[in-house]
Amino acid sequence: MQKLTNRKKPSNLLESRLRDNLDLLDQIRSDAVNDIESLTDAFQHMTLVAQSVQQNYQALLAQNQLLKSTLLSIIDECECRQGNRCDRCQRILQTLVGKNPGQKLDPVLKYKSILTQIRKLG
Ligand SMILES: [Zn+2]
Repeated sequence: MQKLTNRKKPSNLLESRLRDNLDLLDQIRSDAVNDIESLTDAFQHMTLVAQSVQQNYQALLAQNQLLKSTLLSIIDECECRQGNRCDRCQRILQTLVGKNPGQKLDPVLKYKSILTQIRKLG
């Protein structure tokens, strides 16, 4: 009888350790699922932010293009000629070119700066 209990005890211990390990594994797995859910939420939020930045930038570009073409059409309709523009047209051209012509007219640089801002949000 004594022998039987002794033999049974370690196997009980083993089983309870096994059950503890299984519980721990379940806990780890459910933590992982929660982590993945949080990550998914974060990615979804980031996607929305990026989409909104993209839409705003597109709207801004469209507005800019409209403004530029309006100003250019004012120059086109003026009686002065290319190479000999009147003061008003020269001022408009100056405004369109800006203070740093190379920088302001380069859409690649504009895009790079927007992309940098998006990446900073992450
Ligand atoms: Zn003019």
